[in-house]
Amino acid sequence: MSTRARVLVLNSALGPLDYRVPAGMHVEPGSIVVAPLGPRQLIGVVWEPERLPSDAEVGDNRLRNLLAVADAPPLGAALRRLVEWTADYYLAPPAAVVRMTLSSTSALEGARTVTEYRATGDVPPRLTPQREQALERIGDRQGLIRELAAIADVSDAVIRGLVKAGAIAAVEVDIDSPFPRPDPAFGPPTLSADQQAAADTLVGHVAAHDFHPTLLDGVTGSGKTEVYFEAVAESIRQGRQCLVLLPEIALTEPFLKRFHDRFGCEPVAWHSGLRSTQRRRAWRAIASGEALVTVGARSALFLPYRNLGLIVVDEAHETSFKQEEGVHYHARDVAVMRGKFEGCPVILASATPAIETRQQVVLGRYEELKLPGRFGPAEMPSIEAIDLIAEPPERGRWLAPKLVKALGETLARGEQSLLFLNRRGYAPLTLCRNCGHRFQCPNCTAWMVEHRLTRRLACHHCGHVMPTPRACPECSAEDSLVACGPGVERIADEVAALFPEAKVAVVTSDTIWSPAKAAEFVGRMEAGDIDIVVGTQLVTKGYHFPNLTLVGVVDADLGLEGGDLRAAERTFQQIRQVSGRAGRGEKPGHVFIQTHSPSAQVMRALVTGDADAFYAAETEARADAGAPPFGRYAAIIVSSEDQAAAHDVARSVAAAAPRIDGMAVYGPAPAPLAMLRGRHRFRLLVHARRALDVQDVIRGWLGGLDWQAKVRVTVDVDPYNFL
Ligand code: ADP
Ligand code: ZN
Repeated sequence: MSTRARVLVLNSALGPLDYRVPAGMHVEPGSIVVAPLGPRQLIGVVWEPERLPSDAEVGDNRLRNLLAVADAPPLGAALRRLVEWTADYYLAPPAAVVRMTLSSTSALEGARTVTEYRATGDVPPRLTPQREQALERIGDRQGLIRELAAIADVSDAVIRGLVKAGAIAAVEVDIDSPFPRPDPAFGPPTLSADQQAAADTLVGHVAAHDFHPTLLDGVTGSGKTEVYFEAVAESIRQGRQCLVLLPEIALTEPFLKRFHDRFGCEPVAWHSGLRSTQRRRAWRAIASGEALVTVGARSALFLPYRNLGLIVVDEAHETSFKQEEGVHYHARDVAVMRGKFEGCPVILASATPAIETRQQVVLGRYEELKLPGRFGPAEMPSIEAIDLIAEPPERGRWLAPKLVKALGETLARGEQSLLFLNRRGYAPLTLCRNCGHRFQCPNCTAWMVEHRLTRRLACHHCGHVMPTPRACPECSAEDSLVACGPGVERIADEVAALFPEAKVAVVTSDTIWSPAKAAEFVGRMEAGDIDIVVGTQLVTKGYHFPNLTLVGVVDADLGLEGGDLRAAERTFQQIRQVSGRAGRGEKPGHVFIQTHSPSAQVMRALVTGDADAFYAAETEARADAGAPPFGRYAAIIVSSEDQAAAHDVARSVAAAAPRIDGMAVYGPAPAPLAMLRGRHRFRLLVHARRALDVQDVIRGWLGGLDWQAKVRVTVDVDPYNFL
C-alpha cells in the first residue's frame, strides 16, 4: 500500500503536491483531504499521480503528513476526468476547476447532528397536571426542549423533569433533513402524438444508460419541458440522479412549480442565492446520491453527483451558459462532456438552437428530435416589421403609431402586452445640454446609465454608482442634464403617459434579482395584475403567460450593433424567443418588430419565420470565414492598472506567437472595453483551423513567457464576448 498521496490543493497558484498518508488513514483517488501548507491548512483532493504530473518531486523523508480526510464521499472518477478535461480545454489551473466541485465548505465538515427529544410512551411515576398536559400536547412530536416546551405551553424545566423521569428521551438527528423523493407517476400529462414520439425516444436513451446527446428542437410553446420531464421520470424510476441546467436563476422558481405539478414535490435547487446551510444540505444530498433531481444554474454542473443518469440543458442556445469570469467555460459544452464521462444521455432543449449545436447534428454526433407545432390550440404568433424610417414614432417618443395602436387594442380586450428592449435603466447616456459633458464611469470605458427609479447613475460593467447630480459637474449649470436614448424605464414612462390606466411593470435584473422576486412577478402576471410588461432579455425566455398576446420589440437593431460573429444569430434567437411569449394560450399572438432596416436578412427571416433559410445563410457565412464551428477562436486578454505595462506584455505575447500553418494571430489592439474595473485591456485574437490543438499551442506559447504580477493574461477559449 502506498503511503504517498498526490494532492490537488485548492490554491490555483500551486501545482499538485505530495504528502504522506499517516498510519491508520485511508485515502483513494478522489478523497477530499485536509493538507498542511506552511502554517496553514488547505482542502485538497487526492489524485492519480500519473494523471497529474508534479514538477516538484519531494523525497519520502521530506513529506508532511495529511491531517484529515473529510467526511464526504470521494469525488468519482467521471468527475475527476471532467475536471482534467475542463482545465485542459479552457486552459485553467486544475485547482480552479476542482474548487467548483467543492462549492460548500460546510458540507465537507461531515454529518452534523442535533439532540432532539420525543416521548418514550412510559408514564412517569409522578404525574403532575403540568406533566400530563405536556405529554398530551406533545403526542408523537419531536423537537428541541425549547420547542417541546412551547408546544406544551409549559416551562423548559417541566420537559427536563420528564426527561429525567424517562418519559421523554433524547434522539440524535441529522441537521440535513432528507429531500422528498419525486414521484414519476404523480401528474403525467397526456402527450400529443409528436410529443409522445419524442418522449419515447428520450426515455429509451435514459433506460439504455449510455452517452447519447440529443437536440430537442421544438418551437416555443411546443411542450419541450413536458417531453423532457418524461426522460426525468424514467431517470427517477431507475433511481439515478438527474440534473436540469437553466440559463438564469430567475427561471428557477417557475420551474420548481411546474416540477411540483408533475412530480409532487420540488427538486433540489442549486444557485448563487442559497444560504450556506441550504448549500451544505444540497451538496451532501447530491454527493450521497439521495438528491434525485437537481435544477440549477451552470455551477450545478460541477457538483459531485454519485450516479448521474441524465443531464438536461434547457434553453441550450443561451449565451449566459458561458462563464465570463474565473474558469471561462461554456456550460452547454461541459454538460456534454460530463455526459460522456458519466456515460449518460444529454438533452439540449431549444427553440432556437445555436449554429454550433446544429452542426453537431449535421455531423451525426447529436440526434435531433423535432416538435414542429405548438401544443393544443395555440398557433405561432404573426410577426410584422415596423419600418422606423417610414413610420417613425412621434418626436421624443420611441413607440411607433402602429405599435401604440395595438397596445391600446390589447389593453381594451383585457389582454397583456410585452415590450422588449435589452437596456436596463432610463437612458444609456446622460449629457449636459449646456456644456455637452457626458457622464463616464471612472473605472471603465462606458457611459454611466441613468436609473430613475433609484435616482442613480450606474456603470453596467463594474457596478460603480453615484447619485444623479442636480448640477453638471463640469459647468455647474443646474437641471441641465438630458437623457439620450431609451432604456426600459423610459419606455415604461412613455407607456404610462399613453395609457394612464394601464398597470405597467418593469422587469430587469434590477427588479427581479432573486427567485422569490421572479415568483412574485409570475404571480402578478397570472393574476392579471399587470397589463404591460417592459423588460430586458430576462423576460424573453421560459415564461408562459396564456393571456399575453402582444409583443413589441422596441429596437430590433440593438443587438446587431456590436457586429461580432454571432450578432445576427443572437438577434434572431432573442427576437424569436421574445416573440414566442405571445399567443401561448387560446388567443392568437401578434408581434411587432421596430427596425431601421426591415430588409436586412435577419429581419426578413423573423417576419417570414423561415428559420432554415436564415440558418443556412449564416452557417455558410461562418464556413466561408472559417469561424466557429468550422474554425476556432481563442482570445488572449492582457490587462493591468498600468497601461504601459499591459501594452508591453500584449506586444511581447504577440511577438512570441508561434508561426504555425492554419493559425493566425491578430492584435494586440485596445479592447472595445479599453478599461474595465480600473484595468487597461488589450486583446489578441487567435484564429485556428478546427483540427489544430490550439490549447496546446497556447500553453506552450504563453508558458515560455514571463510577466510582472501586476499584469494579468487571461485566455478565453471559444469566446462569446468580444468586448
Ligand atoms: P416550450 O418549453 O416548448 O416552450 P412548454 O413545455 O413550456 O413549451 O409548454 C407550453 C405550455 O403548454 C405549458 O403551459 C405546458 O404545460 C403546456 N403543455 C405542453 N404539452 C402539454 C401536454 N401534453 N398536456 C398539457 N399541457 C401541455
Ligand atoms: Zn465601470
